[in-house]
Amino acid sequence: MTHAHDDLSGLLSHAEELYRDTSFSAVRAWKRRTGGLALGFMPIYVPRELLAAQDVLPVGLMGGGEMEIIRGDAYYQSYICHIPRSTIELGLNGSLDALDGVVFPAICDVIRNLSGMWTMLFPGKLVHYLDVPQDFDPAVGGAFYRDDLLHLSRKIVAHGGRPLETERLRAAIVAYNRANGLVRELYELRREQPWKVPTHELYLLLRAGLVVPVDEQIAMLERYLAFVEDDDERRPMDQARVLLTGSFCEQPPLGLIKTLERTGCYIVDDDFVQVGRWIRHDVPTEGDPLDALVEAFLHDAIASPTRWCESEAKGADLVRRVEHSGAEGVIFCAPSFCDPALLDQPMTVAAVERAGIPWTAFKYAENAGQFQVIREQAGTFADSIKLWSGA
Ligand code: SF4
Repeated sequence: MTHAHDDLSGLLSHAEELYRDTSFSAVRAWKRRTGGLALGFMPIYVPRELLAAQDVLPVGLMGGGEMEIIRGDAYYQSYICHIPRSTIELGLNGSLDALDGVVFPAICDVIRNLSGMWTMLFPGKLVHYLDVPQDFDPAVGGAFYRDDLLHLSRKIVAHGGRPLETERLRAAIVAYNRANGLVRELYELRREQPWKVPTHELYLLLRAGLVVPVDEQIAMLERYLAFVEDDDERRPMDQARVLLTGSFCEQPPLGLIKTLERTGCYIVDDDFVQVGRWIRHDVPTEGDPLDALVEAFLHDAIASPTRWCESEAKGADLVRRVEHSGAEGVIFCAPSFCDPALLDQPMTVAAVERAGIPWTAFKYAENAGQFQVIREQAGTFADSIKLWSGA
């Protein structure tokens, strides 16, 4: 099926269609076309370059959104986040049948348990728990991570994928550098002129990029950038600039993002769909490409709550992001029961308070449908920022 991307609204409708399609038709179509393997990956980071180099389509799984949960609840207690239930639901209702397996990066205990359940529920599918290191010495954590990547690579071959070749990996790094560079460019443009890049549009493009091959993602991002850069009809409004943090795994509903924008917030930085921004710069293309991926993971990754950092480093990083983005306030916006986000929050709140930055906090679930309370809270926050900044 071809889609009309001749104008901005056509491009965004296509992105929204990909975002809402929990049956992953685009992945099924890609498999029919190419005969390749498709592997799902849970948030937040997996080296998609490695998968693509072996002709595998990496498919980001970000939960079930507003989908009704029928069987998934039976697998989990009530006091944990929502994304594992909806992921199980997608697996059990056949939505993920097109996937040849799933990679579960080490994010938290919930994801670790989910990877074990997947092994039991879907025998015959590739399941890999990507045990990313928390030791960043190349001789220790680096060697461990390299081994783990090679282990994953061998499993892909055992499931019918192409063996890993150096030049193919290098080419995949070049392609993802381009895609991730475009995402960074869009984030930069939004920092400078947030009225040109509304977050609900940028978010749809990020989500769409999770289910298509990298060259398609590049084409979509390039088109969007070209549309909005020259769009003089999008004019600045008197909105409060906010940085949204905590939404790196289970994602908020699109309606929540739109609500924040409608209540007077320009979101000028966020934690959504971090896979394309996890590594801060281009991965070097000289030398051994597998070493380059490992080195980038060790020494060029963001200060995620799922990653060990020196004490105070995460608070300092958040304050730096506020300064860089020109945000006037911080909204701590995390999924309910998200341990990594909520355990870091007291420390990062303390850093923000020390720096005199206004902040507010609320929690969400991916299937939330009512935003009245958040609308009032965010609206009041945005109004008070405008009052303080004008004082
Ligand atoms: S939302 Fe938080 S607690 Fe839940 S799986 Fe993701 S990182 Fe883990």
